[in-house]
Amino acid sequence: MDLTLSPSEEEFRDEVRTWLQENNPGPEPEAGLDEVMTFRGEWQLKLHAAGWAGISWPKEYGGRGATMIEQAIFVGEAAAQEAPSPANVLGLAMGGPVVIAHGTDAQKQRYLEPILTGEEIWCQGFSEPESGSDLASLKTRAVKDGDEWVVSGQKVWTTFAQYAKWCMLVARTDPDAPKHQGLTYFLMDMEQEGVEAKPLVQITGEGEFNEVFMDEARIPEENVVGGVGNGWGVAITTLMNERAGLAFGAIAQIQNSLRRLARLANEIRLGGGSAADDSYYRQRIAQLHIEAEAMRLAAYRGLTKTMQSGIPGPEGSLGKWQWSDISQGLNELALEIEGAYAPLSRGAEQAVANGAWQYGFLRSRANSIEGGTTDILKNIIAERVLGLPRLR
Ligand SMILES: Cc1cc2nc3c(=O)[nH]c(=O)nc-3n(C[C@H](O)[C@H](O)[C@H](O)COP(=O)(O)OP(=O)(O)OC[C@H]3O[C@@H](n4cnc5c(N)ncnc54)[C@H](O)[C@@H]3O)c2cc1C
Repeated sequence: MDLTLSPSEEEFRDEVRTWLQENNPGPEPEAGLDEVMTFRGEWQLKLHAAGWAGISWPKEYGGRGATMIEQAIFVGEAAAQEAPSPANVLGLAMGGPVVIAHGTDAQKQRYLEPILTGEEIWCQGFSEPESGSDLASLKTRAVKDGDEWVVSGQKVWTTFAQYAKWCMLVARTDPDAPKHQGLTYFLMDMEQEGVEAKPLVQITGEGEFNEVFMDEARIPEENVVGGVGNGWGVAITTLMNERAGLAFGAIAQIQNSLRRLARLANEIRLGGGSAADDSYYRQRIAQLHIEAEAMRLAAYRGLTKTMQSGIPGPEGSLGKWQWSDISQGLNELALEIEGAYAPLSRGAEQAVANGAWQYGFLRSRANSIEGGTTDILKNIIAERVLGLPRLR
């Protein structure tokens, strides 16, 4: 593994940096999620027009055909310059890569371009009220009826379902098969009578995710991805892409937050000096820097392996675990440093409007749950990276 950029990668980085400096639309509106999604949609169109959506996707599918390192460079630069997310973040990070890996030619033709433009938003319908970590126990049923599947059941925590045109849906198609084998992966049209998305309000006051109810929703046979009964394998590709996609943007965000944390520690008065003069806080901040650097280096190792095998491996689970620990630690430390000031802007509404650290503290509680809980990631690392014996 070589951690230095080649001359052509440096050139690519400079091109990305300049383009972002000239085109970054700045902070997202503070109004509601609807306004934020419109803003992100406009940003995604601009990204696509300049060839920055689907950077590592093959050119024949509308991507840039760049390497995964170049993709990582772009994501890192965008996060470092605090550019907004694109609107169709789940379609770009998971939906597209899954269709490219497992989809038919007709599916590639139909779905990839509107993912890149953001014209069709995607959501991920995996978790259910009684199936999260043990995803293979899910109960949503799909029954064949002529050329269609009829789907009934409930999903939960479905991010952006209220804006989505397509849902990556995993449903049980064979109740008699062993639980991992009776599942099928579908692309479900959210804009139909049998589907209802109801936003859930989070601790931050936002309604980012939803309950999704399906009552005899219809999915044509041609929308099965990867073959009937193969849903588990396709779902795993989705999750690996979700975790692998996180790393380089997350690292740059953490580095920005560490700079802000140092500024905060310099500003808060403590005894005769500032919090930054206090050895306890200095060591805590230094520890977070060390953890962030370990995460960055491990992410390069994961990237090297992905480039060799073509598919993200279980190492992405390590990055996701490191990220959630650092993100929670950072926000907790910031509130500790703010001390008596910390609760002043803690209300959910105020947190979004005023207190970035208060908002970060509340939002980061979800980091160790979303995309797989830390306990589950530790199990994956123990079994699939370290080769330790399986629990069951
Ligand atoms: C902000 C956010 C966004 C999300 N977006 C989506 C989305 O778009 N689509 C989607 O499908 N899902 C989404 N999720 C759901 C997420 O994937 C699940 O919450 C997660 O997988 C955990 O499942 P659960 O909530 O059912 O908890 P459970 O699986 O019930 O876990 C409860 C506790 O038990 C622990 N536990 C469970 N099993 C084990 C085990 N074998 N070993 C050790 N500990 C164990 C867990 O770590 C956890 O602490 C989102 C969640 C959040 C917080």
